[in-house]
Amino acid sequence: MPNKRIVGLYPGSFDPVTNGHLDIARRAHDMCDEMYVSVVANPSKNAIFSVEERVELLKKTTKHLKGVHISSFNGLLVDYAKQIKANIIFRGLRAVSDFEYEFQMALINRTLHPKIEVVFLVPNEKFIFLSSSAIKEVANLGGDVTPFVPAVVEKALRRIY
Ligand code: ADP
Repeated sequence: MPNKRIVGLYPGSFDPVTNGHLDIARRAHDMCDEMYVSVVANPSKNAIFSVEERVELLKKTTKHLKGVHISSFNGLLVDYAKQIKANIIFRGLRAVSDFEYEFQMALINRTLHPKIEVVFLVPNEKFIFLSSSAIKEVANLGGDVTPFVPAVVEKALRRIY
């Protein structure tokens, strides 16, 4: 894509953001001219943090990514991508278990919006086992989550559990 301006969108639940998400966000940011990290606000999953709290935690933990936009959206991912003029959607792949769902969604999204490309990024192997749901389980059972999430997220989890 010579001379094409790259606007990236990294969408997710981010309930809450983990070091794995931040690793992917940093890699995506390095590849873009402009980058959005956006909370999917659809009420299909029972989240423990509100959309506003998730946005706030993302803002605090991505300060080092120059010019990154943190936002949230309702509705279809491809509609939001069109709205912000994104041409790449980034998703993280941890294991083969992520692949089937991600592959299906990528093809559906490309059918809905043929101009968008979905790019899968692999995190540092340190984060390959990390998920927001595992972190919530550990926090709920009183475990130490400091190796897995930034300090502000650890504090926010402590307020809940
Ligand atoms: P979603 O509900 O959209 O899967 P998540 O917040 O769980 O939202 O994840 C957002 C994206 O980040 C997904 O592409 C997911 O595969 C990826 N991701 C989550 N945790 C990690 C991790 N530890 N390493 C790499 N990618 C990750």
